[in-house]
Amino acid sequence: MISSNCRIGIVGAGTSGVYLAKLLIQQGFQVAVFEKAPHPRTEGCGIFLVQAGMKALDRGNPEICKRIIHSGVPVRLFEFRNLRGGVISSEPVGYAENELPGILVHRKAILEALLDTLPPDCVHGNAELKSVTQTDSGVMAHFKDGRQWEGDLLVGADGILSNVRQSVVPGVQLSYLGDLVWRGVVPDQTFCPDGAFIVYARGRGVYANFFDIGGDRTHWGFFIEKDQDTFERGALRPHDPSIPRKELAKLPAAARAIIESTPPEQIVSRYSYDIDPLPHLYHGRVVLIGDAAHAKSPTRARGMTAGFEDALSLAQYLTSSANVDAALAAFEAERLPIVHEYQRTSREMSMKIGRVRKRAA
Ligand SMILES: Cc1cc2nc3c(=O)[nH]c(=O)nc-3n(C[C@H](O)[C@H](O)[C@H](O)COP(=O)(O)OP(=O)(O)OC[C@H]3O[C@@H](n4cnc5c(N)ncnc54)[C@H](O)[C@@H]3O)c2cc1C
Repeated sequence: MISSNCRIGIVGAGTSGVYLAKLLIQQGFQVAVFEKAPHPRTEGCGIFLVQAGMKALDRGNPEICKRIIHSGVPVRLFEFRNLRGGVISSEPVGYAENELPGILVHRKAILEALLDTLPPDCVHGNAELKSVTQTDSGVMAHFKDGRQWEGDLLVGADGILSNVRQSVVPGVQLSYLGDLVWRGVVPDQTFCPDGAFIVYARGRGVYANFFDIGGDRTHWGFFIEKDQDTFERGALRPHDPSIPRKELAKLPAAARAIIESTPPEQIVSRYSYDIDPLPHLYHGRVVLIGDAAHAKSPTRARGMTAGFEDALSLAQYLTSSANVDAALAAFEAERLPIVHEYQRTSREMSMKIGRVRKRAA
């Protein structure tokens, strides 16, 4: 068995890294989380946590799962509309007794539910990873401010622009999916009531979704197809963050009104990227989880769920394996085919619903 003296460093205090930290600490491991921001970033918008993600939370820590259920709302209706507002299809979602629901919830509520269970000294802010070196006995992380950490295993949970990934699979490029998306959360009781998830099907270069996240709030996402200007290649955020009025005018008035009621400073925008499936998830004593390992198009809402599943799997193998090398091999054997499938189907759906795919430089 792996000794509980095993020192594990996690780079990135997003949902994947913080959930893994919680699971490892509850098994008695020594864990340090390093986050480049001063504090874990609890901002963000609405998230659809599909049932697989809720199961990964429930199996690892049922209390966290319950808290997230109470913070959000079960999805109860999928409605597809055309750009004139006409209903194309309307599918109610039912749940058996004791079945875990898919949950619509604010990202802030998820991250806070995870962070509240960690010891206060576990997360180190202002710790931006610069480089990693592997030694005969373990691994060293070097931070921008000159700090170093030495341990037995380093986990890269540092998101789509992962620095740790370079130590596992060098030279990974982002692939541009041809979309620019704006998102926001507004007070609303009527447009998206009772767990409704409304999609305005793609047409005339735009697409939008709106969903209830509980607490009389609605999340919205507005996507436009866009070729990136040369100077924006590889950038996550657009140079001009405003929503073009001409594009917004393609939505029906009621949907447009929800978006227009959002204070501009609360709207987030970003280009959509994914990465090609990686051939490995670990190298030596460095392993990747979450978006660092398999950033994907949001079309199937599998991103956060996949990070929770990774965390659960890695924590279970570190708890049950004879040594760290065996745990990493078992983790990769289990997760690689699953995350490749998520990446493949998410990208396929992106292309099917009409996104123009372009390679980022
Ligand atoms: C438009 C959009 C909609 C989405 N909708 C959904 C949805 O409905 N359902 C769903 O399941 N998923 C959704 N996703 C995907 C989901 O948001 C991500 O998969 C998930 O948040 C990834 O979590 P993570 O912890 O792996 O990475 P992140 O949340 O990106 O966390 C990475 C952390 O690492 C830190 N970091 C980065 N570099 C360094 C460094 N060098 N040193 C130290 N720290 C570092 C960052 O500051 C950050 O805190 C969506 C994504 C997008 C873009």
